[in-house]
Amino acid sequence: MQYTNYDLKDTIVALATPPGVGAIGVIRLSGTNAIAIADMVFKGKALNKQKSHTIHLGKIISEENKIIDEVLISLFVAPKSYTKENVVEVSCHGSSYIIQELIQLFIKKGARMAQPGEFTLRAFLNGQMDLSQAEAVADLIASNSAAAHTIAMQQMRGGFSNEIKNLRQQLLDFASLIELELDFSEEDVEFANREDLQQLVKKIQTLIHALIQSFKLGNVIKKGVNTVIAGRPNAGKSTLLNVLLKEERAIVSEIAGTTRDTIEEVLNIQGIEFRLIDTAGIRDAQDQIEAIGVEKTMEKVQQSAILLYVFDARKLTPEMVKADLEKLQVPNQTILLVPNKMDRNPSLKPEEYVTATLPLSQIVTVSAINNMNIEHLKNTLYQLVVSDKLNLDNPIVSNTRHLEALQNAHESLSEVLKNMGAGVTTDFVAMDIRRALYHLGEIVGEVSTDDLLGNIFSRFCIGK
Ligand code: GDP
Repeated sequence: MQYTNYDLKDTIVALATPPGVGAIGVIRLSGTNAIAIADMVFKGKALNKQKSHTIHLGKIISEENKIIDEVLISLFVAPKSYTKENVVEVSCHGSSYIIQELIQLFIKKGARMAQPGEFTLRAFLNGQMDLSQAEAVADLIASNSAAAHTIAMQQMRGGFSNEIKNLRQQLLDFASLIELELDFSEEDVEFANREDLQQLVKKIQTLIHALIQSFKLGNVIKKGVNTVIAGRPNAGKSTLLNVLLKEERAIVSEIAGTTRDTIEEVLNIQGIEFRLIDTAGIRDAQDQIEAIGVEKTMEKVQQSAILLYVFDARKLTPEMVKADLEKLQVPNQTILLVPNKMDRNPSLKPEEYVTATLPLSQIVTVSAINNMNIEHLKNTLYQLVVSDKLNLDNPIVSNTRHLEALQNAHESLSEVLKNMGAGVTTDFVAMDIRRALYHLGEIVGEVSTDDLLGNIFSRFCIGK
């Protein structure tokens, strides 16, 4: 298969540390000639005579015979390296001039610049890791919370992919028996025990089901939860946002393309990132500019998993609140109703605001200005997305591509069961099994296409 439009036999080079000035920079070479290329410019020892996993001090000399830098070289001899190829890591002084000179020199001696993700692509193609593990490398690098780090690390270390590989193999064995039956179709033989097959299919479905269920949490951990704060003017939205964020004020991000209409800030509650979107408020659009503001508000409201609706406890009757919510709520969105300014109306009865879609547990009375009940509000937010205690020991799927493959595999397996039960001919059952095998294989990369690999690895940085 032609995976890429560049040659994977080349020896590649790239900066592995972030660009810019640092105490040190690490340049990585990988490929058959990595050690030979380093030897051409390294004065110290002959690297090709050294053992794997050793470090060597020496100088790198330019073609004009000038010392470019004094460096440490780490040596990894194939196949005991990240890519399973010969790998040389050059730790140099972290000046961008030195780094550029060294990379140019390695290119002159026969290496070429690595493509984005090419080191990890090679690691995958050479069998160092499966596809889901390779993807976890990118997640691990991007992880910025303890929970995101834990699931990326778990996936990188094999996580659920080992179990999927194992069950897929068992299914593959059945598939071969069934294909054999098809070869002997004249003779009406049965090599594959139908009861065993059914049991295996059910077992795989149970695993897949649990993995699909885990995605909601995995996605929340990886991507955070969009939470829109809405309410009429003067309800206390800004005040509430301020008390929620308190010390976390530092993490402020303004969504590109918007000005004062919507501002996004991140609130971290026990490792889950809530992206709070403050809106310009809801009012009947009286002129064009307001109409745009309202339209943007509606757009943000629709993209959010949680709608946190704040109102002035003195001002709105249950009927008014319900009418507002009806206008605002979109399907699959969870409402958190927050009567504010309770200091001014302590007798408000939350029960009166309960509806078919809004239980009492999702109504939290506060006084933003007095910091009253804010901790309870945070806990409620957290519980809306993490219903059980956060358990990171079980495999958690956090990748949309994996989710889709799992859903497709589950569907094909349901077809297998249905058709077997209905006595449909073996060739149809075989077709559904093949489809399930295909989707399971997609996750770990036993089945992959150029497009898929291109898509995954092009999102990596150069040097990864
Ligand atoms: P927004 O228009 O929804 O963003 O509302 P603001 O946050 O600007 O608040 C409107 C007014 O209500 C301000 O004068 C706040 O000081 C006041 N306010 C906010 N929260 C409370 C509260 O809990 N109790 C009282 N009494 N006033 C509040």
